[in-house]
Amino acid sequence: MTFALSGQKVLVYGLAKSGVAALRLLRQQGAQVTALDARGEDALGDVAREVKSLGATLVTGACPPGLLESRALVVVSPGVPLALPELVAARAAGVPVWGEVELAWRSLEAVPLFGITGTNGKSTTTALTGELFARGGGRTFVGGNLGRPFSEAALTPGDWDALVVELSSFQLEGIASLRPRGAAILNLTPDHIDRYASHAEYGEAKARIFHHQSPEDFAVVNADDAHVLGLARQARGPVYGFSVTGRPVADAPRLAGLAVAEEGGFRLDFNGERYRLANRALRGAHNAQNAMAATLLARLGGVPAKAVQAGLDGYPGLPHRLESVRVLEGVEWVNDSKATNVDSVLVALRAFPGDVWLIAGGKGKGAPYAPMVEAGRGKVKGVLTIGQDAPLLAQAYAGQAAVHACGTLAGAVTKARELAKAGDTVLLSPACASYDQFKNFEDRGDSFKRLVGAL
Ligand code: ADP
Repeated sequence: MTFALSGQKVLVYGLAKSGVAALRLLRQQGAQVTALDARGEDALGDVAREVKSLGATLVTGACPPGLLESRALVVVSPGVPLALPELVAARAAGVPVWGEVELAWRSLEAVPLFGITGTNGKSTTTALTGELFARGGGRTFVGGNLGRPFSEAALTPGDWDALVVELSSFQLEGIASLRPRGAAILNLTPDHIDRYASHAEYGEAKARIFHHQSPEDFAVVNADDAHVLGLARQARGPVYGFSVTGRPVADAPRLAGLAVAEEGGFRLDFNGERYRLANRALRGAHNAQNAMAATLLARLGGVPAKAVQAGLDGYPGLPHRLESVRVLEGVEWVNDSKATNVDSVLVALRAFPGDVWLIAGGKGKGAPYAPMVEAGRGKVKGVLTIGQDAPLLAQAYAGQAAVHACGTLAGAVTKARELAKAGDTVLLSPACASYDQFKNFEDRGDSFKRLVGAL
């Protein structure tokens, strides 16, 4: 602990899950905490009661002038942009402004941390890396942007031998000393254009994962992604790559080693180890990338090869991501409700050889559907449309594949049951947000599982 918090006035900005976890940690450490959230007390509901029961002062609405400047430290939730004028002013006044993960890190510096970031696949890779460490790396905390906030680990720092943490670019913006023993960047595609001025700036936020590493730490990067490889130049220790093409992009920094996909699995070129990838929860080239990244983190982090293979075989998968729900009379039903954009549907379609009935639609995001049509050519037997964007999907698929307008998910499941034959796959991969018909993508996926379970 390089910063004694006992008795210090600390402000927690933003009371989502991570903010509340930070508050609990700060109270455990004896800080005087004020919590600030733009939502009113009624909207905060139980959270407001919890804040008070933890002995913190709650301030709601706009930030009162001068409040931040009078604190010894400000801790921000990942949902709160660091560019807010009051946060800029606090920093200018010399007040340290940390993200919630930085606060947690200060109590956990003695435990090796394995951090994972990227545009897509963070949660899968984090859960999988956690599985590998849990099987061969001792007592493992898995969380961060996914599942449990990192601050929860910091409540009991002596409980952990390894920390496997998903780090979003927003969380990385708020680090000041967080030092991963192993740091992975999976990929970079345009995202969060609302919060970043440019793609380059978004990449720089991701590269922060390397900034506090030492030469004895290591980096893991996607060797097929030129932008990611470029960012790896900022790493201080050896850089390991993973590649599904086997031909890393030109002009790469020197790699200390490479994981390369091969038929049925992948190999590590620096030690000759081969791993089998036969787990349904990890099908598709994108999951081969996630598995290679997780394996590099685990092997270089000290997990024995046998435990890695056992983890790759036993990983149960995360719900709503190419989740195999049921095989009924030879038809496999797959829930990919997390696919809320066209790019996710592309990786899903690439994971199946053919004979797919695709259930798609919902609240669209305005991106063209043509790439989906292209990726599904020869594979998609028919499209069952639901929700608001059904007409646009029908337009895109006109003359390319049979389209059945089903309206609702229940209608689509009934229709798919009629149409699908043994050997086919029914894939819910909607390319759209769910809000027109469901609370969120989890609700949509759960409904699908209930409907399929009842067939
Ligand atoms: P994140 O936490 O980054 O959103 P997830 O593991 O939840 O990542 O995966 C979200 C979606 O991103 C998946 O449903 C899949 O469509 C896609 N995806 C997963 N891994 C990758 C990858 N390595 N490259 C590209 N897309 C991926």
